[in-house]
Order: sequence, then structure tokens, then C-alpha cells
Amino acid sequence: MECYFIINYINYNLNIKTIIKIFKKMGFILSKIFGDLFSNQEVRLLILGLDNAGKTTLLYQMQFGEVKVTVPTLGFNVESVKYENINFQMWDLGGQSEIRPYWRCYYPKTNAVIFVIDSSDKERLDIAKQELFLLLQEDDLKGVPIAILANKQDVEGCLSDAQISENMALTDIKNRQWAIFKTIAKTGKGLDDAFKWLTGILKNNQS
Ligand code: GDP
Repeated sequence: MECYFIINYINYNLNIKTIIKIFKKMGFILSKIFGDLFSNQEVRLLILGLDNAGKTTLLYQMQFGEVKVTVPTLGFNVESVKYENINFQMWDLGGQSEIRPYWRCYYPKTNAVIFVIDSSDKERLDIAKQELFLLLQEDDLKGVPIAILANKQDVEGCLSDAQISENMALTDIKNRQWAIFKTIAKTGKGLDDAFKWLTGILKNNQS
């Protein structure tokens, strides 16, 4: 019960016309895929990463409606969008170790994690790495597939996906399926690939 009081989130339901428009724009029928996968079940996707990585931009880009920041009663913001049976929840990691125990409220029943990295933020890549590997140790996220987005690939001098993979020792991730994708959340480039990969994995895991 405690979690219900701690978690402050706002769900947004879109009308059918908006949904159809979004699907057309996206170029693939995300809800159909997820709908077939988890007909009556809710799909929980966590979108995590350091602040400024591009998480909100990603949600806007996908046009899942208005993204609202909740009032940070416990010192952290949670942004949440409910889209048909897909529940996207998103928060900033890093520098908040004292409230880390509360994040566990969000972990149970998570189907997939999207971890967004600012490829141009070389200074904080180590922090992103630490946060990622802490997440991977969480019991409630055991075996949950993770799509790692090397975002901001349009920024000159940014790290490539291979460089990020090497610097963050991603090949050390052995306890789940993972993949890294080059993305530009600002334009939407690469997001389709990441979502297609995730849905493919979830589909396989279901059967
Ligand atoms: P969040 O804190 O992770 O939610 O990050 P935001 O989505 O708020 O993005 C932080 C800043 O990075 C904003 O100024 C965005 O416009 C910018 N941004 C996000 N994605 C990209 C990208 O792919 N390329 C570039 N150049 N800027 C981006």
C-alpha cells in the first residue's frame, strides 16, 4: 500500500482518433503488437536514464500525448503516460541515492526497460554506467529485457554506439537480453528499431 502513496503519477488516455493518427505517424502499429502480446494485461515499460538524456523528448516524439511532471514530494519526478494498455513510466536516475529504495515501488511487473544515454555527455558516462549496472542487480527487474539508446547521435563529436558499448562494458550484461540502438530522439530516428526489437523479444518470451 505504501507504494500507492509514494507513487504520484498521472495517466493520460487518448481518444481513438488521436491514437489512429499516432499509429499512422509511427509507421508501425505498436498497440496492435502490444495488444496481441498482452491482450488484457498492462504492459509496463520503464524509461530510465540520467537527467537530460532525452527521455521526455522520446515520449513527445512518439506522440503519446502530454507528458506531465508530478510534484516531487519525495525529491524526484515521475512522469507517466498511459497509452491503451501500455504504461510508460519514466524518471531520472543519478544523484538521488537516498531515495533509491523508493524506486523499487516501480519495478514489479515491469516488462521492459529503455535506458537512454546522452551520447554527447562523455563526462557523465561513468555515472550512467553505474546506474545501469545497479538497475541490473535489482531482483524485481531480473531477466527484464533492456534496450539501451545511444541518443543524441546528431551532436557532433558524440560517442558512437560501439564506443558507448565499450566504455560502459555492455558486453558484461549476461543476465538478460539487451541491445544498443543509435537514436536521435529529437527527430525520432532509430526509435522504431528499438521498439521493434523490444516487442520481438517480448513476443518470444510470451510464447
Ligand atoms: P530528459 O531529462 O531525459 O527527459 O531529457 P529531455 O528529453 O528533457 O532532453 C534534454 C535536452 O536534450 C533537451 O534540450 C532536448 O531537446 C535535447 N535532446 C533530446 N534528444 C536529443 C537528440 O536526439 N539530439 C539533440 N541534439 N538533442 C536532444
